[in-house]
Amino acid sequence: MQNKINLNSLDYQELELFVTNELKLPKYRTTQLWNWIWAKNIIDFEQMTDVAKETRKILAEKAYLFRPSIEKTSKSKDGTIKFLLKLEDGELIETVLIPSVAKDGNGRVTQCLSTQVGCAMGCTFCSTGKLGFTRNMTQGEILGQIQAARFYLEDTKPEHPIIRNLVFMGMGEPLLNFETLMKSLKTLHHPKGLAFSVRRITVSTCGIQKGLKELGESNLAYLAVSLHAPTQEKRAMLMPKAAKWHLEDLLTALESYNLHTRERMTLEYLVLGGINDTQEDAKELIKICSRLKAKLNLIPYNDTPNSPYKAPTPENLLKFEKALWAKNVTAIIRKSKGQDIEAACGQLRAEYEIHK
Ligand code: SAH
Ligand code: SF4
Repeated sequence: MQNKINLNSLDYQELELFVTNELKLPKYRTTQLWNWIWAKNIIDFEQMTDVAKETRKILAEKAYLFRPSIEKTSKSKDGTIKFLLKLEDGELIETVLIPSVAKDGNGRVTQCLSTQVGCAMGCTFCSTGKLGFTRNMTQGEILGQIQAARFYLEDTKPEHPIIRNLVFMGMGEPLLNFETLMKSLKTLHHPKGLAFSVRRITVSTCGIQKGLKELGESNLAYLAVSLHAPTQEKRAMLMPKAAKWHLEDLLTALESYNLHTRERMTLEYLVLGGINDTQEDAKELIKICSRLKAKLNLIPYNDTPNSPYKAPTPENLLKFEKALWAKNVTAIIRKSKGQDIEAACGQLRAEYEIHK
């Protein structure tokens, strides 16, 4: 593969340059190639039947298309599928397909995407955080997760569901791979390719000062911010690195977004039994929610190995939710799927260690 270029890692403009400079073809040919790569999910140039034979030969000499290979699939009893994927350099990452049934009765899935191999943020409750950081993923690798999952679905199920929504909630902190994240989002939107609209994409971040505003106002994805604690003190205990950016400053930044952006923003609140689920915590959280016009997702903690935390009791969780509703805060308890295969939020890592 040396000196060959991986076309999956190019955005539209870059592919256009490749088409004109390397293939010596007119610009408009880019759409054709782009469509094969992203809409038709083809990696073998020989299958690109409307590309001239001579061009296919040059393509094979100068370029290639890499799709991460599926090393393992784990299926949950609730229909969630977790994939262990191998990247070009042998690094392993995980991506998850979460099923849902749409109003019209058709099957749909949401895909949870990783953006980094490991994560540098070290949040105390998160399995990925315990791995530490290895490297950023490229656009080809980030979007390659969709290509691998689509290939699997098309290959295994004749009446396969479509990947409807994307959530960047897998391994890694998306904003610490900012440039590639933005590039990937633009590629995702391209109408001649994967054609995902902004409403179908959510990027979750623990709140990184650099890039948060730009992403929040970019109109490329909905934003979800991992709050997890209602005070700076508690947040610093749970997510020491993320909390270096003071909670007050994070909130001020979020407040400064225009209303349109704020209204579609989600705050994620991981509920840890006995840690951040008291009535006092609810009170503080209400203050925060009254400042931001945002939805609140309550995520009961998913157990991870050797963890000091536990999930809240169902009674306490309901009491917590009730206290928020009483003050008109829109809070929704998010039941995690795929817990039995460790595919739920924050559980992505176990397979990694076994296979390494
Ligand atoms: N780094 C980003 C996105 C990946 S984590 C972020 O932190 O937002 C995706 C979500 O899973 C985050 O809200 C994260 O806090 C949550 N999470 C991490 N560990 C968890 C656990 N053990 N149980 C439930 N949710 C967890
Ligand atoms: Fe990284 Fe998000 Fe896990 Fe924190 S919760 S360690 S930011 S992946």
